[in-house]
Amino acid sequence: MTEDKINETIRGADTYSKRCPYCFVYLSLDAKVCYSCNHKVRNPNKYGIAKKPFDWYGFIAAIVTWAAFGYYLWWWSIQMK
Ligand SMILES: [Zn+2]
Repeated sequence: MTEDKINETIRGADTYSKRCPYCFVYLSLDAKVCYSCNHKVRNPNKYGIAKKPFDWYGFIAAIVTWAAFGYYLWWWSIQMK
């Protein structure tokens, strides 16, 4: 088997399957949920690993944390006057 042929085989496998980012089982490309761990999965990245869905809860928690910090700085600047 030539190197080109091997690369072609690897690429071929990547186009037909992706791997769960949580438990690393192989999934079909159009799978929305992992059959093994029931986590939601998205399209694969260039390594053939499915992306995790966007973490809205973490995103909102981060914004609230920064807003609280900004409010604290604002409050602190008022005390200094
Ligand atoms: Zn999984």
